[in-house]
Amino acid sequence: MINNPIVKDFLKQIVDNDDDLSNIQTIIQALIDGIETDEEIHEQTGIKLNTVRKLLYKLHDASIANYKRNKDPETQWFTYTWRFEKEEYVKKIENFYQQRLSEREKHLDNLENNLYFVCCIDPEHFKGDYAESSEFEFYCPVCDYELEPYDAKKEKTTLKRKITIDKKNFKKFEDKISKI
Ligand SMILES: [Zn+2]
Repeated sequence: MINNPIVKDFLKQIVDNDDDLSNIQTIIQALIDGIETDEEIHEQTGIKLNTVRKLLYKLHDASIANYKRNKDPETQWFTYTWRFEKEEYVKKIENFYQQRLSEREKHLDNLENNLYFVCCIDPEHFKGDYAESSEFEFYCPVCDYELEPYDAKKEKTTLKRKITIDKKNFKKFEDKISKI
């Protein structure tokens, strides 16, 4: 479940680098498994204690994890007991998925219903719909060569594939999370 591409892409927004991405996945799994303190997570996973703490607070900021503070009656020190917020987690991932899906569907819809033009020398120079292209009188604003109709076939196929795969992966996520 934690390796689901949708979950991964969602978590990428929370962390700063690939190491933290893999660590935060491990920490979420530890919380799901019922491990409650930063030190236990550190011991069980081998992730540095500072990193565990930093990432737990990132999860807290994202409302995916919550903590309770207790005072040890003997040492007078505070201990933090962490808990995984499953409902919030599911809600956040569902929102992420729905938003990405609607953006891609809108993009696909645009490609299907509009004619686009690109620079005939280098498509990176310019790509625009009819109105945008006519502003430049169908000449590339970068190199001044002509614009030509854009063949959207490949991009449409890729988008459709991404949409299908995301739908399948979201279903997998729902199936797995419901068993936790
Ligand atoms: Zn050009």
